[in-house]
Amino acid sequence: MTLTLQWGSATNTGLVRSQNQDAVLAAAPVFVVADGLGGHAAGEVASRLAVEAFAPLAYRSEVIRADIVQAVADAHAGILAHAAADPATAHMGTTVSGVAVVWFGESMHWLAFNVGDSRVYRVESDHLVQVTVDHSEVQQLIDAGDLAAEDAATHPRRNVVTRALGISRDPTPDCWVFPASAGERLLICTDGLTKELRDDEILAALAGATAPAAAEQLVAAALDHGGRDNVTVVVVDALPTSETSHQASEADDRTGPPVSARPS
Ligand code: CA
Repeated sequence: MTLTLQWGSATNTGLVRSQNQDAVLAAAPVFVVADGLGGHAAGEVASRLAVEAFAPLAYRSEVIRADIVQAVADAHAGILAHAAADPATAHMGTTVSGVAVVWFGESMHWLAFNVGDSRVYRVESDHLVQVTVDHSEVQQLIDAGDLAAEDAATHPRRNVVTRALGISRDPTPDCWVFPASAGERLLICTDGLTKELRDDEILAALAGATAPAAAEQLVAAALDHGGRDNVTVVVVDALPTSETSHQASEADDRTGPPVSARPS
């Protein structure tokens, strides 16, 4: 079956922070978010450099895993070079997480990847399946059996990431590859979403909406709950091609037009 991708993204500074240090690139076959770390404007620079490293892959007919690994390496190198040249941005860093569409012959797959604690989820009708595993202190405590997953969101060290571009010596991404299927929805987000909303609240904000509307609704819901951090989301739908003909493409540069997922 031919699948058609439709996606939307949204980002917001939130209600507390003065700057938006998140960045986003949503341009099939790559969808990426980054959450900058560092004082003043440095985090903003790092996250922007991270997503810019993926820009050469935007709208390419096909990417492979090596392209993603290379883009992450390029992002890391670019952040280090910038930090070395501009002391105001020394020690800046960023998470980077996302999804790429990859092909094995005729079979479309998702490649999810992450460095840090921005996340990729598969959205099921009644629950979220977290695909990526955070590189964070609280995840290490959970893995060691020393912290219950439901207590992670309120743990005092919940914001400490253990792998980040610009900071870690070797910030290789972890990758997960799984087959795409019609009707599937993926969510990519920074922690400004997941620390503000429970899974059921995220599901409620997603329900019944097209990908572009769902992205806007998720950010609005995070703001309604306090908006204490920058919040960035990408929602990607894999639709059976026949279902998309009636869907108007919105004139919004954050909204991806429906495109055939099949490489030409
Ligand atoms: Ca954040």
